[in-house]
Formats: sequence, structure tokens, C-alpha cells
Amino acid sequence: MRRPLLAGNWKMNTTGASATELATSLAAQLVNETDSVDVVICPPFPYLAAVGSAISENRIEVGAQDSYFETPGAFTGEVANEMLVDVGCKWVILGHSERRHVLGETDELINKKVAAALEQGLKVILCVGELLSEREDEQTEAVLDRQMQGSLTGISAESVQDLVVAYEPVWAIGTGKTATKEQAESAHHHLRKWLTSRYNPDVADATRILYGGSVKPDNALALMNQPNVDGALVGGASLKADSFIGIIRAGVEASGSN
Ligand code: PEP
Repeated sequence: MRRPLLAGNWKMNTTGASATELATSLAAQLVNETDSVDVVICPPFPYLAAVGSAISENRIEVGAQDSYFETPGAFTGEVANEMLVDVGCKWVILGHSERRHVLGETDELINKKVAAALEQGLKVILCVGELLSEREDEQTEAVLDRQMQGSLTGISAESVQDLVVAYEPVWAIGTGKTATKEQAESAHHHLRKWLTSRYNPDVADATRILYGGSVKPDNALALMNQPNVDGALVGGASLKADSFIGIIRAGVEASGSN
């Protein structure tokens, strides 16, 4: 059975004070939950170290929202994987739809970032997902195949053990329009089939596939009760301790029933 993972993507939100307060509040309230699920929080770069210190006694792990593929050097404005490791990050989100569609990241660039992050020992949450127009054109599976193929070129079965896939339909991110559990399960099932054919059944069986897109405490359990949904990548609802904890507890409940 795959252990659920609940990851909070804080995006470009919080201040130094509110980031530390949110992390401290999560750490104080999450006690037994991390016995059965993994919890990761991904604050903005400037707050990674302070958030890491605030939760250092807890099993919650810290992740970044992006990184660059080059080793430290003359790349103004970028952040190297080595720096993330240095401040205690264990995870990095790569290929988020906002980076693909707002900042123009390509599968080729994401592939380089995935390879470099895994090489530095970071665990990767690789995001994939279709636009509404692509879903309406019945292109969802083709888009997922293209993004998976492009992002994982040259990534070995051994390296992919440190990678989690997040299925995030773009039309569901930050819109309040969650995918139905059937839509999510169908995409996740397809992604697992893709992992079987690209790697092997063991890799496909072991790889966690998270759902992301307007996950809330009241829809999280139904989504995570689907056989191929192994947790959630949460944006807006991870910015309030109560709502993120509600989602984490849904993950705990799903871990007992899947
Ligand atoms: C996200 O940013 O990855 C996300 C899923 O956002 P939201 O939960 O706000 O839709």
C-alpha cells in the first residue's frame, strides 16, 4: 500500500511572520497524523530556512516550489538544488502549471530540473495536467503522456523512486472547480499505466500519484479513497492550518481504508 502524501504549496503567499506562524501551528497540532501519512510544506524561497527551524522537532518536511538545473554559479535570480539541501529542504515541486503556463516552462526545461534535483538527493513532486480546452478536445491522456515522456526522459527506474507525480488539471487549480473523483481516478489510472509501460509494474505500483486542484477538507476524502489517488497537492487550502489539517486527517482516514 502506498503511504499518502499531503503537500502544501504556499505559492507566492505569506510573510516571514505568517509563514513561521502557520508552520508552528501545523507542527503543534499534528502529532499522530505523521505516523500514517507524509506531510510536506512548500513556502516561498525566502522563508524556507525559518520554516524549517520552526518545525525541526516535527516529522513535517519542507519543500521548495522550484529550483534551477545548474550547479551554483552565474545564474542571476535562480536557486540551486545545493542551496535547497543546504537550508534543509527535502523536496521540490517541479513543472507546476503556473510555471508552465505563466512562466513558459517547457517539458525539456522541466526534464533538466527533475534530473538535477534527483541528482542532488531532493525528492521531486512532478506536476502534470491538462488545460480545460485540452480536456474538452479529449486530449487529456495525450497531454499527460507528452508531459510525462518529456519530463522523465533519461530518468532511470532507480531515480524515479524519489519522485511523486501530481495530477493537477489546470482548470481545477485555484478555481474551486475540483475534478470529480471519477475524473481524478481515470487520469491517475492512466498515469499508473504509463509508469508501467515506461518503467515496470513495480515502479508503477510504488509511485505515489497525488491529486491537486481545489482540494478542500470536504472533498479530500472522496478523492483519496480512489484506488490510484495517493494524496493531495494543496494550494489555497494549505494556507490555513485548520483547512490543511482537515485534508491531512482525510489522508489519515484514507490510509486506513485503501
Ligand atoms: C496548486 O497550487 O498546486 C493547487 C492545487 O492549488 P489549489 O489547491 O488552490 O487549487
